[in-house]
Amino acid sequence: MKRRPYFWLFPRKCLACGRVIDAKLFYCDSCRAQMPFIEDTRCEYCGCGKEICTCNKKKHHFDGIVAPFYYEHGAKHAILKLKRYPIYAEPLAKECTEVLNRYYGSILFDAVCAVPMNKKRLKQSGFNHSAALGKQIARRMGVPYNEMLVKVGKSAPQHELGLNFRAGNVRGMYDIIDEHFVKNKTILLVDDIKTTGATLDECALMLKLGGAVAVYVMCAGIVKKTGNISR
Ligand SMILES: [Zn+2]
Ligand SMILES: [Zn+2]
Repeated sequence: MKRRPYFWLFPRKCLACGRVIDAKLFYCDSCRAQMPFIEDTRCEYCGCGKEICTCNKKKHHFDGIVAPFYYEHGAKHAILKLKRYPIYAEPLAKECTEVLNRYYGSILFDAVCAVPMNKKRLKQSGFNHSAALGKQIARRMGVPYNEMLVKVGKSAPQHELGLNFRAGNVRGMYDIIDEHFVKNKTILLVDDIKTTGATLDECALMLKLGGAVAVYVMCAGIVKKTGNISR
């Protein structure tokens, strides 16, 4: 096992049980087996397992979405860690790239980009965790990572709004940085989680308006829908 120099000072511990593990992993084998992996038979519109899909084949501006996990239990824990520690991008990117290869292995992606943060939030966090994840995914795919989108407006944080108000909240909030990176490209758009898909929809729309041929979405986690939600 190849370990980095700082491993002995800060050994990686399993997020669930605390056992010391390989620095490239975030769960030990037995805890990983209990992770909320999305079922193999999936809805191509919302990315959930077909058994639990309630989207009624709702169309999006993105051409497809894939994620390794539901946003719950151990996966939620890891994704929340990513928001604070960029080191979690690498193991999550490994899980993401595995499902990406399984479902979109035949697609030739030109580049990866991520959902941007506004300047204020970026300053508070110190880094954009979705971009950190996107860069690691791009590295594993062997394609360039480009900043393609900028958040131009100030929207209320999506988690503070009811699910039915989220699409309106993000409309017109994103813009293309440079069409050169977008035009005629097949793009993988990365975000940490998908809840309603409103933010991803808006970003995909901007990329399409900028001339993207296709936009596929890769998230680390998908929030399971509960109740009767229209988006
Ligand atoms: Zn464990
Ligand atoms: Zn669905």
